[in-house]
Amino acid sequence: MTSHPLKCDVIIFGGGVAGLWLLALLRQQGYQTLLLEANALGAGQTRFAQGIIHGGTKYALLGKVTASSEAIAAMPGVWRDCIQGNGIIDLKKVKVLSDNQCMWSHNTLSSKVAGFFASKLMRSRTEEIQQQQRPAIFQSTLFKGKVYKLDEPVLDTASIVRALAAPHRDAIMHIKDTPWFEQNNARHFEVEDSEGKTWQIESQRCVLMAGQGNADLTAAIGSSELPVMQLRPLKMVMLRGGLPEKIYAHCLEANVNPRLTITSHEDNKGEVVWYMGGQLAEEGIERSDKEQIKIAQQELNSLMPWIDLQKTQWACLDINRAEPKMGKGKRPDTSFFNISGAVITAWPTKLALAPKLAADILDSLKETNLTSSALNSSDLEALPEFPTPDYAPLPWQEEFRWKN
Ligand SMILES: Cc1cc2nc3c(=O)[nH]c(=O)nc-3n(C[C@H](O)[C@H](O)[C@H](O)COP(=O)(O)OP(=O)(O)OC[C@H]3O[C@@H](n4cnc5c(N)ncnc54)[C@H](O)[C@@H]3O)c2cc1C
Repeated sequence: MTSHPLKCDVIIFGGGVAGLWLLALLRQQGYQTLLLEANALGAGQTRFAQGIIHGGTKYALLGKVTASSEAIAAMPGVWRDCIQGNGIIDLKKVKVLSDNQCMWSHNTLSSKVAGFFASKLMRSRTEEIQQQQRPAIFQSTLFKGKVYKLDEPVLDTASIVRALAAPHRDAIMHIKDTPWFEQNNARHFEVEDSEGKTWQIESQRCVLMAGQGNADLTAAIGSSELPVMQLRPLKMVMLRGGLPEKIYAHCLEANVNPRLTITSHEDNKGEVVWYMGGQLAEEGIERSDKEQIKIAQQELNSLMPWIDLQKTQWACLDINRAEPKMGKGKRPDTSFFNISGAVITAWPTKLALAPKLAADILDSLKETNLTSSALNSSDLEALPEFPTPDYAPLPWQEEFRWKN
């Protein structure tokens, strides 16, 4: 077996939004950084995300401004700056699906939700849309609720992955499976690339950003000090065929989650796809695909009875959210990272928080006096050539999923 030594400042495992953002940031700061991806770029949670750059308003639904809503409030502005070419990372090539979203209430509102809609927080962050300005879908005379504009963009996740990865393809290696680490020593390990070549890697820090794959990586490193992961399963639903228009909207109820969140995308032939999450996806995990689709149809019939669903085709997507373990079924408030020796284990917990997570990790590297190999990326030592991974397709563009 051949062995090729490679020396880096930082190794990142996982080419989802979190790993790719960190790679771009660290290389910009002069750190010799290499990202290792075991599948395709964006293949984990990132391509299943709805692409909403949350600013926290919906998380304040239960009345209190939580740590989650404060941490996330700056995120729409951070992403917008990058998309306009004025931010920390150049995301001018990212496709904006919608500049904003709607929140709508339906006619059987609980008092809690009615109070939320009338609250000071809502008045400061959102604006009620009068009937003539509403998306056409909420102009039906059968619609009795209110619609608010939420100033948070929705982005195409495949274009995020490409925009982040394209300038750094030379620093992204396609690997086979999980590497072999010296027991409890993440600074030296051996990994096989997808063409079967073995590389000896020496790195000052090793950042685990492999989403659900972090569990295998922490097991391979073998330290009991590393954080434990929790998985939060979701059963998302998508539909296409004769849909009247693209919408980006949350139907709110007195729950930490919207009753329904709908984003719109396009399948391979450019046909509109509605992608549905929210409470529907959380409660649907024990249901079969058939049962979940039936419930989703009932939801749309009840919330938007004026929409003709006769020609629609439906499918379910089962996917886990990977997060740090919180206990008692709790969900994390914000992005998470833990430093244990040379290993940093991280989960952004939301795509929207990837910039914050990367900035926090950069700060911690500086605090621990990790010196960069070069002052700027043009001085970096050229990396040898190795195979690079493909980009993962968006799930609604994979025809095999539309079996119903
Ligand atoms: C259905 C759904 C909808 C969502 N919608 C939103 C939303 O609208 N807005 C929002 O802000 N957040 C959303 N999220 C959350 C968001 O998708 C995730 O927080 C985010 O994508 C996680 O990114 P990541 O890079 O940490 O992990 P992932 O995207 O899971 O990427 C991990 C990568 O690591 C790779 N990998 C795995 N094992 C290994 C290994 N051993 N070695 C190397 N590589 C490995 C995988 O192939 C993958 O490419 C949603 C999540 C889900 C599931």
